[in-house]
Amino acid sequence: LSDRLTSVFSSLRAKGRLSDADIDATCREIRIALLEADVALPVVKDFVAHVKERARGAEVSQALNPAQQVVKIVNDELIGILGGETRRLRYAKNPPTVLMLAGLQGAGKTTLAGKLAQWLREQGHVPLLVACDLQRPNAVQQLAVMAERAQVAVFAPEPGNGVGDPVEVARRSIEHAKRQQHDIVIIDTAGRLGIDQELMRQAADIRDAVQPDEVLFVVDAMIGQDAVTTAQAFMDGVGFDGVVLTKLDGDARGGAALSVRHITGRPIMFASTGEKLEDFDAFHPDRMAGRILDMGDILTLIEQAQRTFDEAEAAKMAGKLASGDGFTLDDFLEQMMMVRRMGPIKNLLGMMPGMGQMRDQLNQVDDRDLDRIAAIIRSMTPGERTDPKIIKGSRRERIARGSGVTVTEVNNLVIRFFEAQKMMKRMSQGMGIPGMPGGRR
Ligand code: GDP
Ligand code: MG
Repeated sequence: LSDRLTSVFSSLRAKGRLSDADIDATCREIRIALLEADVALPVVKDFVAHVKERARGAEVSQALNPAQQVVKIVNDELIGILGGETRRLRYAKNPPTVLMLAGLQGAGKTTLAGKLAQWLREQGHVPLLVACDLQRPNAVQQLAVMAERAQVAVFAPEPGNGVGDPVEVARRSIEHAKRQQHDIVIIDTAGRLGIDQELMRQAADIRDAVQPDEVLFVVDAMIGQDAVTTAQAFMDGVGFDGVVLTKLDGDARGGAALSVRHITGRPIMFASTGEKLEDFDAFHPDRMAGRILDMGDILTLIEQAQRTFDEAEAAKMAGKLASGDGFTLDDFLEQMMMVRRMGPIKNLLGMMPGMGQMRDQLNQVDDRDLDRIAAIIRSMTPGERTDPKIIKGSRRERIARGSGVTVTEVNNLVIRFFEAQKMMKRMSQGMGIPGMPGGRR
């Protein structure tokens, strides 16, 4: 996927403006990319339509080239659909808070019960795990092991507890929790290998008996294209308030996340990333978007570039670049600082339009050069900065003393500035940084 997108985006990179043809071509590739990440087809269609609309409406950004703009729109849309910010658990006003887990067999419900219990216990809660999976012979035992590892209590069917009847077990567990001062009850339920009416009915009966504060739908991230039908079936059969995505430690790219969220409108609340109880975290839409797109580094750079390249600043600079007139030492310094704020310069090569030709020069610049240049320019009077031609003998000495450098270095800077000014007259467009110092040491 990454390779595919990278090649599309690099083919766009050379162009100045995003045409309809560009957008269509890019969207075709994004479509394939999302399908490869196992996003369900109807979801892909909606998503791509959204992106197209936004890309067409988007003004051409000064800070980003068209390729970067598309990446950013795709990423923004993904984060938006995945839910913006993380939603927290809703606790009951009158404890216990009842959490019910639902999902297919093998989705990771029982494991999640242990993880949630430990996580909540560490936050000062006193959870009770309830074994309502009476389908599989060792399911109760498995939950008891989880409870022991998480150091919490378990409520299992015993004579008098509603043996053989999961609804009865669930009902009695609430009374038990109240008596024993548990403020949270986590109900583990049975799953089936496939969607099944009997299973749905049982889950719905448990739900009706205990009135959970949250029903969490647990879904395996590896489920891929089936995520939509499974989520829809549980939505219709039981209903749920939030989603937990499991097995994100696997190599699945997590397209299921996008599908489930899009189809059900329910937030993804937690992510499970392994078999150990610690392998668990709140869900982060931005990380998930990066995973689905598989291009996290590029996104980071785009964010940096955009934050730094204030549009007004860029527009102003573009005007001066185009004419070459009125370009002062202050502008020269401002340009360099802009580059500095973007972080390690080398990472940004190729990220900025027109920057490619500066590659060799920039490769030899480091931040210490910039510090010295900034010091020299700041030691000049406003008049000197605006009209550097007046910087002669005694002024050079004063500036050198003021900035702690030699007169030769001041001379070099002034010469380099005039070169930059000349070069800029020749350049009619682009945001390159002409005359950047290089190879001085
Ligand atoms: P349930 O049938 O829904 O209760 O699923 P289980 O909790 O029994 O989990 C089924 C299998 O998946 C078990 O072998 C778990 O150890 C494993 N499992 C659960 N969650 C994760 C996870 O996040 N990552 C990995 N790698 N395995 C998991
Ligand atoms: Mg289970």
